[in-house]
Amino acid sequence: MADKEQKKNFGRGANECRICGRKQGLVRRYNIMFCRQCFREWAPRMGFKKMN
Ligand SMILES: [Zn+2]
Repeated sequence: MADKEQKKNFGRGANECRICGRKQGLVRRYNIMFCRQCFREWAPRMGFKKMN
């Protein structure tokens, strides 16, 4: 019952980066919603390799 602050990005208007809130260059594959910058930083940590 402690998560009513950080969850507004998942329901409505979720077309922005979950990390930085950017709306440009979103990467929506793999069930994530990151911008390209954050994706580049996080992809390796999540087990993705640089593909393309
Ligand atoms: Zn971002």
